[in-house]
Parts: sequence; C-alpha cells; structure tokens
Amino acid sequence: MCGIVGAVSERDVQGILLEGLRRLEYRGYDSAGMAVIDGGSVTHRAREVGKVASLAEAIEANPLTGHLGIAHTRWATHGEPSQINAHPHMSGDRLAIVHNGIIENYQELRDELKTDGFEFTSQTDTEVVAHLIEQYYRKHNNLYDAVKAAIARLRGAYALAVVHADEPDHLVVCREGSPLVIGVGIGENFIASDQLALLPVTDRFMFLEEGDIATSVGTR
Ligand code: GLU
Repeated sequence: MCGIVGAVSERDVQGILLEGLRRLEYRGYDSAGMAVIDGGSVTHRAREVGKVASLAEAIEANPLTGHLGIAHTRWATHGEPSQINAHPHMSGDRLAIVHNGIIENYQELRDELKTDGFEFTSQTDTEVVAHLIEQYYRKHNNLYDAVKAAIARLRGAYALAVVHADEPDHLVVCREGSPLVIGVGIGENFIASDQLALLPVTDRFMFLEEGDIATSVGTR
C-alpha cells in the first residue's frame, strides 16, 4: 500500500499534489500519477513509471491545470509496475480514482462489469472499482451516492479518492483497512494517506474511521 494525495481549492492544485507525493516517497513505490479536473470539467491525467521526479517532468512539459485533483504513488499488487497499471485509473474520460490496498473480490466484479460492457485497460484490481463507481453514477447521478453504493460491493482493504468531471467541486473519499486523513484549509480541503503529505498546506486534520465516506462540499 502506498500513497494518496488530493486537493480541492480555489488555487491550482498540481503543485500541492506533487509536493504531497514527494513527501510520501519515503514509503517506496514503483510508479506515480495525477489526474486534475480543469475549469472546462475535463479530466486530465499523467502517469509515469519510476520516480515522482519523472512525473514532475511530464507535468512541467504538459501542465495539469485545475482546482480539483488526485495523485498516487503505487506499490503494485495486481499487475506489473507499468504506465498502464499506474493510478489514477479512469472509467470513460470523466471519472478518476486512486486506491491504496487490495480488492479481494475484484475478479468476480471484473467479469460482471465486462458482461455489462465495460472495457478494461489495466490488470489492476483498482480499475474494477473505477468502472463499478461509474456504473452506479449512471444510476444515481451523484458521486457520493455512487461511491457509497459501489463500496458496499467491495471486499478487501482500501483507501479511495474519487473525482468526476461532472462534479468539479467534489472530492469523495472513503476508507476500510487503509489510512486516510482530511486536511482542512481556508476555502480549500485536502486528503492524504499520511498527514505528512499535507503539512505545507494545513495543520488541521480529521482522521477518517473505518467504513467512513466523506465529500468536500465545494469551495468555488
Ligand atoms: N492494488 C492496487 C494496485 O495494484 C493498489 C496498490 C497500492 O496500494 O499502491 O494497483
């Protein structure tokens, strides 16, 4: 299990996310990635095998500008370390997710989602969760409700952070068996798997309990 950082703010978040990932590097990881939603509500993503510095270079060449974003350092459990298996994982081009942990029933969910027409681009257990949330999103049209319905189907350990381009103010997070903390700012909120990642931006924290799900209410 490796690192998660997320932010919803009035300012551009890519610098906050990158610094957060750098602060989580002590844990060891095989790849790093970031997804950001911009003013036009389009989800942009960058993923690199290797160090956060490689991700930083990619982002410098092609900035991920926006006010809502999630980022990840991965320690592979399902699927080799590769760009395709790196997080964030997406369902379509509007929903993005980062995940720490292991989904034990991923194979049966994968088979079910394939039957329902979802196409898989990675070998990870995480991509199953992305498509499952998207499937419930089509039904509920609300990200918080979709995440709640999806995690009721999961067995295993997870900390998740989820964004959807149709809800550019909402960062939805939940945890079961993996740590996740909310950092409270002024007009902005942050999340991370370890509060160390957020120390440059806040010193006010709320720790999610097992089974908790939370959403930002919007800052803009
Ligand atoms: N099981 C997921 C994967 O292999 C997440 C691993 C992690 O916690 O970094 O992609």
